[in-house]
Parts: sequence; C-alpha cells; structure tokens
Amino acid sequence: MKLVTEFRNSELAGGLIAQIQRQSKTPARLMEFCGGHTVTIFRYGIRQVLPGTINMVSGPGCPICVTANADIDKALALAQIPDVIITTFGDMIRVPGSYSSLQEVKASGADIRMVYSTMDALKIAEGNTDKSVIFLGIGFETTAPTVAASILQAAEKGLNNYFVLSMHKVCPPVIRSLLDSGEVKLNGLICPGHVSAITGAQPWEFIAEEYHIPCVISGFEPLDILQTVLMLVNQIEKGEAKVEISYRRGVHAKGNFQALKLMEQVFEPAAATWRGMGNVPGSGLKIRQEYQRFDAEIAFAIKTGTPVEPKGCLCCEILRGVKTPIDCKLFGKVCQPQSPVGPCMVSAEGACSAYYLYGGGSEG
Ligand code: SF4
Repeated sequence: MKLVTEFRNSELAGGLIAQIQRQSKTPARLMEFCGGHTVTIFRYGIRQVLPGTINMVSGPGCPICVTANADIDKALALAQIPDVIITTFGDMIRVPGSYSSLQEVKASGADIRMVYSTMDALKIAEGNTDKSVIFLGIGFETTAPTVAASILQAAEKGLNNYFVLSMHKVCPPVIRSLLDSGEVKLNGLICPGHVSAITGAQPWEFIAEEYHIPCVISGFEPLDILQTVLMLVNQIEKGEAKVEISYRRGVHAKGNFQALKLMEQVFEPAAATWRGMGNVPGSGLKIRQEYQRFDAEIAFAIKTGTPVEPKGCLCCEILRGVKTPIDCKLFGKVCQPQSPVGPCMVSAEGACSAYYLYGGGSEG
C-alpha cells in the first residue's frame, strides 16, 4: 500500500507540473466540483503552479454550503419543538439560517448534539426513548447510504423515536443545471472522488457525451489533482471528451453496489433546493413511502418563514462559479472563520474558508 506522503512527493509533483506546462496550449477553464478538492488546491498552492493557460474555478460541491436556508430553517424549527433532540455533523451547527443558527438555538436551551456518525444518533435514540431524535441528513451520494443504513437499523430495532430530515443531494443533475445555465463556460471537470467511489464513473458520462467536456475523477492529494489536471489537459489538447479515473485506488468504474442498493432501498429521487442554484429536479433524495415513519418532515409539523440570504453574502454566486470570495466585500473583514456570515466561510470545505486560510491563488 502506498503511503499518503507518496502522493505529496515534491519531485513527482515537479514532474507533473512540467508536463502540464509543456502540454497545455489551449486556454481552458477547469472546475473542481468538490469542496475537498478545493481545499487541496488551495492548501498546496496548486493554482499558482499551473500555466497561465489554465484557469481553475471552484464548484458547488460542498454539502454544507449548498444546503439552502429554507432547509436550515426547517432544522431550526425542529430544534425548537419540545422533547426533540437534534443530532448533526459538526459544521452544520455554525451555519446561519435565515434568522438564527443551530448554535444560537442550542444556547437558548435546544438539545442539539454533535455526532460523528449516524450510529451515534441511533444510540442517542435508543438511550432517550421518551424523546424524538432527529438526524440532519445532509451530504451527497457519499453519506446517503450510511443514513439509509441507519433508517434500516431503526426499523429492525423497532425504534419509533428516530427520524431523519433528508436534505441529501445528488450531484449529476446540478452539474447539468449549471451547464445549461450558460453562466459559466467549462472546458474540463474534476469529478468528485468520494461521490464516485459510491456511484462509479457512469453518472458523469453525459457531461462528456452531451456537452463535450472532458471529465476526470480525482483523489484528494496534491499529486492526484496534478495528475487529474494533466489528464484533462491531454483530452483538451486532443479534442477529446471522455470520463477517466485518476483516483484508481479509491474508485471502481462501477461504484459500490452495496451502498447504491442501500440508498435505492430507502430513498427515491426528488427535487431539491440548492443554495445558489434553486430548485433542481431529481437532485435530492426523499425517504420512500415504506420508511415514511422515519421522515421528520412528515412526522412533525414544520413551520418556517420566508428564507432570507445573509445581506451582502455572495455564497450563491460563488457556488455557481461566477464569483470568487475576493469579490465579496465582507470577505476577511466582517466575515472570517471565527465570525462567518455565510456557509462558504463556515464549512471547512467552503471556498471562502479555503481562500481565507490558504490565500486566493490566481484568478482569471
Ligand atoms: Fe458569504 Fe462570507 Fe463568503 Fe462573503 S466571504 S461570500 S459573506 S461566506
């Protein structure tokens, strides 16, 4: 097995950079969809070492960032119902909704607990049978199977106090929506590695076939990204558009059959609202009728007001790839990781947080 340090080897990186510089002749805009890739690109200064022909742009692949305020407001409303325990992954707690955040309602007495897995949430439900335990289901195809598994386990154990607020999203429909909008012109796409580990390569094929945009599924180390950029440059220079995998150690072309089966058993496709992109048909996952008793939206009457975006925040435009954090007047001033105004500064995978922590790199 290769050690992670091998994927950070500066000599190998230098070789890849030299190849990219030699081979890249055509100006190309490449988007990294995934927030994990955004962090690697900024942390290792990858934008700065690429030739001027290549312009990198960040996409909407940070699950916390794309969770719409309307959904965060639902979570806030649920948190304020008596005898409810909200369980959630850490970053969600700090994301501001329209009028408050989970952190604020927790400070006012709501029972909100940070968990590291859905199994932790299930344990809380088992230990608090007099309370309703709601897990905030956010994330892409990567996390949905584990949430599906928790629902199946709750059913098996006969737990009637475990619920999920499903805010899950699936990626391919939103990429189609982004491309159809015509707002951002792309010549190559760095496809998400963790999502592809579940879905395989097939869901990205329409991008190459219908939009003639080269796609490469990438891992998360600096050498993975450089190798991916090189593969994209090769396709671009040859005038090709196909889906390739540079992350062979993490992704099988056919994906993870078991995980897909779990997801399919519990969820069905539904429209979902993405921050910045609005309502996108087929881009969400709704709990199937058979498991509706675990659906927090059905079990509880959720009342929310009209969602409001933070004033002056450009997260919506940043998530569509049409603005960058440095276009935002609040960046680094009012809005910092300690006092975030929008979700792109809260999330460790958000573009604003990556710009703030590691510097903006070159723009174009
Ligand atoms: Fe929003 Fe802050 Fe990013 Fe500006 S810097 S877009 S306010 S998260």
